[in-house]
Amino acid sequence: MTTTPGEAMPAIKPITADDDTLRAHLSDAEAPALLMTVAHLTGDLSILRDDLRPNGWLFLPQGGLTDEQQDHARELALNALRRLREGAAVPRLDRGTLRRVTSWAMGGDTEDLVPLLEQELILPGEDPKAPDWRLDQVAPDRDARVVVIGAGLSGLLAAHRLTQAGVPVVVYEKNPDLGGTWFDNHYPGCRVDVPSHLYSYSFATRTDWPDHFCKHDELLSYLRDFAKQHGLLDLIRFNSEIRAAHWDEAAGQWRLTADTPDGPRTEQCTVLVSAVGQLNRPHVPQFPGSEEFAGPAFHSARWDHRVDLTGKRVAVIGTGASAFQFIPEVAKQASRLTVLQRTPPWLRPTPHYHDAVPAGVQWLYEHLPYYAAWQRFWLLAPGLRGVLEGWVVDPDYPPSERAVSALNDQLRATLTTYLESQLTDRPDLLPLLLPRYPVGAKRVLRDNGKWLATLKSDHVRLVTTAVDRLTPDGVRDADGELHPADVIIYGTGFQASQFLAPMTVTGRDGVDLHDYWSGDARAYLGLTVPGFPNLFCLYGPNTNLSGQGGSIIYFSECGVTYLVDAVRRLVQGGHRAMEVRPEVFSEFNTWVDEANSQRAWGFSNVSSWFVNAAGRTAQNWPFPAQDYWRRTRAVDPADYELR
Ligand code: NAP
Repeated sequence: MTTTPGEAMPAIKPITADDDTLRAHLSDAEAPALLMTVAHLTGDLSILRDDLRPNGWLFLPQGGLTDEQQDHARELALNALRRLREGAAVPRLDRGTLRRVTSWAMGGDTEDLVPLLEQELILPGEDPKAPDWRLDQVAPDRDARVVVIGAGLSGLLAAHRLTQAGVPVVVYEKNPDLGGTWFDNHYPGCRVDVPSHLYSYSFATRTDWPDHFCKHDELLSYLRDFAKQHGLLDLIRFNSEIRAAHWDEAAGQWRLTADTPDGPRTEQCTVLVSAVGQLNRPHVPQFPGSEEFAGPAFHSARWDHRVDLTGKRVAVIGTGASAFQFIPEVAKQASRLTVLQRTPPWLRPTPHYHDAVPAGVQWLYEHLPYYAAWQRFWLLAPGLRGVLEGWVVDPDYPPSERAVSALNDQLRATLTTYLESQLTDRPDLLPLLLPRYPVGAKRVLRDNGKWLATLKSDHVRLVTTAVDRLTPDGVRDADGELHPADVIIYGTGFQASQFLAPMTVTGRDGVDLHDYWSGDARAYLGLTVPGFPNLFCLYGPNTNLSGQGGSIIYFSECGVTYLVDAVRRLVQGGHRAMEVRPEVFSEFNTWVDEANSQRAWGFSNVSSWFVNAAGRTAQNWPFPAQDYWRRTRAVDPADYELR
């Protein structure tokens, strides 16, 4: 099927620009996405040559294509734009083309991925993942009320999808506004470190993101617009925190108690959805002398904007993803900045990390049909398949704290060269900043040079000796040196292993969820737990995509698809309760644990929030992202006791 621009695709604007203008627009475009777009639009798949294939998973900008290769892609795109200007028809993306283009890009047959990709490579306005049923059709008299806890990315999505299916939903949100972690985190420099064009719902993409990696307030605006547009605001009870949830087996209901602005409130629902996130309860280490420190001290996720850092001596503890973003901003204000690092991060070159989307690229998003979709695919692809290969332990390599496989060692070499290239003027810093653990054992951070430029500043000191204690005047390290500070900022992460805390959740037969987990949270597909019927956890245990190439929104969409299907099965079958079978849960977790132990993060001894106090990885999904999609497309009734 073909269509002309402006007809079935109102979001695409007609092309009137002259050749020079078109060339200028193309100059900043992502060459791999251009090649795919051109092949699709022209039908000339011969342009997808082996020697032009990008390598997206080696963390190289433009897929590692040379300048000449990029120029070649731009020339091809120019010809395609000329043809569109002359009125060429725009072919819809058919299965065959989808498969052939993506197979080229991913370096292997994507036949098994086509059903997934058909849901992702879509045009504005399309929504192939929307529920294909409505409550009033399948079970008109059924009470199917759902309570969602949390109005972050996952909670909003769940509320939207259930509303599409006509299921009554109420969302409880402890904060005065939506956004979850994006509401809590407003530290200076806070932005998404996943590309904005990927970090958005697949069916509600924006082509006009101002930045490649948008700032936190821009993301909040996106979420607010999403909620408003889909009528979700009326469903959310703000400033209302669910304290306890108790399963009533006889009634097939969850009984809830909540703290609300009007006092305690009781509530009940057929299905309970936890969408409380993993990264919202700050971890603040209790160093000896913490209470003695005389100045202000706060955590990155509780940033105290009343504290003026101008001219102050500031000590920051931690160099994880959050500190990495706010330290360069703090350095602009502080008179002296001490960075207390326990473990250095690996840095991934991302020259455009803080850049605005160039006007030319913006123009392409608006005028070149499918360019936005192919660009999104290009951002998604490494997480679907590919990037994980770099983290898999090869027992024959042999794996070590240096590298877990030959490919992992290759990544180490690439990233070491990158680090060294920035430290030619300060070789003294290299031993402090070169990680001694395999790439991927901790989150690899996107870098545009700002981090090391900051650490090299005269008024900034990198300290790698452990914190011993706090004193009224600052931080004393294990060598006894005092680092004077007027303000201490904790960039020390979150209590990521404490899933669903601090709620009390009591399931069938009075079993307490936290007792059941005993600090080591597990769920089937991250979603369901034996003994806790009709409870679904979004961004639950083992649903964090640790590879650099996907986004948590993808996982949320998979989880919500599964949730909506579960609600359908429950009501359509006239069931009171749906409970995962213990053997299914156990088998799944054994499978996950075995795989996690053979990944860089499970193998390495380095500290990270990917590993809980029991030494188990309760956070990460150890398989390609496509595997999670495959397993969450629909509920397998054999996995559950439906009663
Ligand atoms: P994090 O990655 O857990 O980093 C915590 C830092 O604090 C680490 O450097 C850690 O050192 C250090 N630390 C913890 N306890 C310490 C102690 N007792 N003494 C000294 N140092 C200590 O936390 P985060 O930076 O907040 O990031 C958490 C996750 O949030 C990220 O991995 C990412 O998934 C997400 N995040 C996303 C974005 C984004 O997209 N924009 C931004 C920020 C965060 P060790 O490394 O030695 O443990």
